[in-house]
Amino acid sequence: METQHFDRFDDPVVAADVAHHLHPFTDYAEMREQGTRIITHAEGHYIYDSNGNKILDAMAGLWCVNVGYGRQELIDAATEQLNKLPYYNTFFKTSNTPAAELSQRLIDIAPEGISHVFFANSGSEANDTIVRMIRHYWALEGKPQKQKIISREYGYHGSTMVSASMGGMSGMHDQACRLPDFEHIKPPYGFLYQGNMDEETFAEVSANWLEEKITELGADHVAAFIAEPIQGAGGVIIPPKGYFERIQDICRRHDILFVADEVITGYGRTGEWFASKTMNLKPDLMATAKGLTSGYQPMSAVLVGERVAEKLISDGGEFYHGFTYSGHPVAAAVALANLKVIEDDGLIEKVRNDTGPYLAEALQRLADHPMVGEVRSFGLLGAVELVEHKDGPKHFAQQGHAAVVVRDHAINMGMMIRAVRDGMILSPPLTYERADIDATIDILHKALDAAMDTLKLS
Ligand SMILES: *Cc1c(COP(=O)(O)O)cnc(C)c1O
Repeated sequence: METQHFDRFDDPVVAADVAHHLHPFTDYAEMREQGTRIITHAEGHYIYDSNGNKILDAMAGLWCVNVGYGRQELIDAATEQLNKLPYYNTFFKTSNTPAAELSQRLIDIAPEGISHVFFANSGSEANDTIVRMIRHYWALEGKPQKQKIISREYGYHGSTMVSASMGGMSGMHDQACRLPDFEHIKPPYGFLYQGNMDEETFAEVSANWLEEKITELGADHVAAFIAEPIQGAGGVIIPPKGYFERIQDICRRHDILFVADEVITGYGRTGEWFASKTMNLKPDLMATAKGLTSGYQPMSAVLVGERVAEKLISDGGEFYHGFTYSGHPVAAAVALANLKVIEDDGLIEKVRNDTGPYLAEALQRLADHPMVGEVRSFGLLGAVELVEHKDGPKHFAQQGHAAVVVRDHAINMGMMIRAVRDGMILSPPLTYERADIDATIDILHKALDAAMDTLKLS
């Protein structure tokens, strides 16, 4: 197809993009109609597009730019490392200084019991790696029939075949993407399922969904349960207090590994290095990515607990798994610089003691809005559930439409925010100040008002 065909887009970059670039998570027919937004540069908490718009990034990219844009420390670390050693692999007992130092650093900040690190390039690869490790582990334990992985509806674990099967996104499964041996339970999604239960009862009921599934499958066949401490892409679903305590107890009783997918919640977002610390979790394995490099380089790290690591080391022989770019020296150097910025700037304490609580307070300003059914937050993750009528049903008749209308108004008003089903999602950089939170809530408020008009709600 000729690029010229798209010259109705004034910008030749948009024309080329629309003509030849198949984007991730994009409706291609819609993109062909509307074109794409070209982000040209970014600084601090703002991104800029080729039409001259300045947009407040209340999503930190895709939940990842934890230290904000344009941090010189990360740029310098990358440049220096590119000059010194731009690439070498970590296969067959070779290594590089940043990868070795980063593994040490990650173990220093990881929850107790985590002893080793496996590097990959994305959250999806981290989760694929975890499934490979887990199955290998159980085979080494003499229980090769322990294969099944349980996860939750609305969970997001990535886009490869394995990670999408493990995720609980029905739209993805519908596109022929559900491998056998991946099982799902309902999430502890209070807005939908809590009803009149108090928090403690709901924690018990929702954790029991795991026990029921294990009973159905037989514990002898279940390898692991994997969960995001807070479900991100599923809509910032925050579990009731006590949920994970029960979940971990169930896993222990049935001898099932517990995996925390901390791709979003890791590296400061919940006011600790990891949500596992915030929520007192003791995972056997953890997937981390996104905030590890603040998105400046693609990199993920699987954090492996002693139980699995010791087995792989003592009995495993060669682990036939790895990526050309595992432990990439430039990515590792950027990760080290990024972790140093998070520490030196006190970003974790800032989220825990200041901006996290302030976001919770600021979101309350939206609670009385006629379109708002619930607001909730945890650290610097926030969600606003939209409803058609305050005392009506939880869903809009046409699910997914209203939130997109609010999102588009917000973008036109100069703020990037995300729509999930009938809800709005916030995940700003950890460098956000109170004034940025105020600006975010103000714009969201105006976008809600504008959406009331567009949707003809009164
Ligand atoms: C983004 C995400 C992933 C997938 O990471 P990619 O780098 O996009 O492959 C996995 N798990 C969670 C919780 C995520 O938010």
